[in-house]
Amino acid sequence: LKKRVPVPKEPTELTELSTVFNTLLDKLEDQFEREKSFVANASHELKTPITALRGHLNLLKRWGKHNPKVLKQSLQAMDIEGEHMQRLVHQLLKLAQSTNPIGITRQQVRVESVIADSIKQLKPILNNKKIIMNVNSSVEVIGDPNQLRQVTNILLENALKYTNEGDTIEIYLSESRDKDCAVFSVSDTGIGIPTGEKSRIFERFYRIDKARSRKTGGTGLGLAIAKEIVDNHNGYIEVDSTIGIGSKFSVFLPLPGGTTEKNSE
Ligand code: ADP
Repeated sequence: LKKRVPVPKEPTELTELSTVFNTLLDKLEDQFEREKSFVANASHELKTPITALRGHLNLLKRWGKHNPKVLKQSLQAMDIEGEHMQRLVHQLLKLAQSTNPIGITRQQVRVESVIADSIKQLKPILNNKKIIMNVNSSVEVIGDPNQLRQVTNILLENALKYTNEGDTIEIYLSESRDKDCAVFSVSDTGIGIPTGEKSRIFERFYRIDKARSRKTGGTGLGLAIAKEIVDNHNGYIEVDSTIGIGSKFSVFLPLPGGTTEKNSE
């Protein structure tokens, strides 16, 4: 049971102080629980490829010398598992970086060039798909260009992962109508997201179809990292999606001097 400071009935300064103290304890406990479940999830996610690696290693030890089929299949599987582990550790490091506000630079960033850099970086994995950028107005925000590029990378990589050959992914960049934030969105014509899952996909390690996500190299951490970064920039991220029709992820970031930016300071 939670131990809390008893709040005196008479309204005094002590009442206020004990309420604040208890609220802080609640928050600390929540945070502690979240960290605990994160470590448990991370260990579980790492355990799966390690178990598979060891399984194939045993197969190799027993049959590898005499059975070329086992040799080939196990080596292939170990390659895939190793790659998955590498990606997972890489994403975990990114997540740790994005949750640490120290080290985030705050400079003027042209969103258009962040998106352009992202597109350039993803060229090698386009696979007959097209990315089109529509710039309504060129906007600048205050933030960390590398972290913001990670957000565009994650959204574009997902759009590429969950679409079919020959599909086109569209990016829109504009100012919101009341001009207090920059809006950029990534729209795809892919598999879509069921309504009930829309809020869960931003959770760490959450994947709708584990098997499919694993095949495409998914760790379930991408959107959690993107959300963390956008939150740290005082913005927010939304998804609009229809199964079989496609998904649209929109990121809203405060413009320098806009009301959203002022409120957040
Ligand atoms: P993953 O590494 O599995 O892609 P993310 O955190 O980036 O992890 O995404 C979480 C889940 O959300 C994915 O497993 C996938 O099911 C779903 N998802 C994300 N982006 C899209 C998209 N553009 N279209 C359809 N489903 C998506």
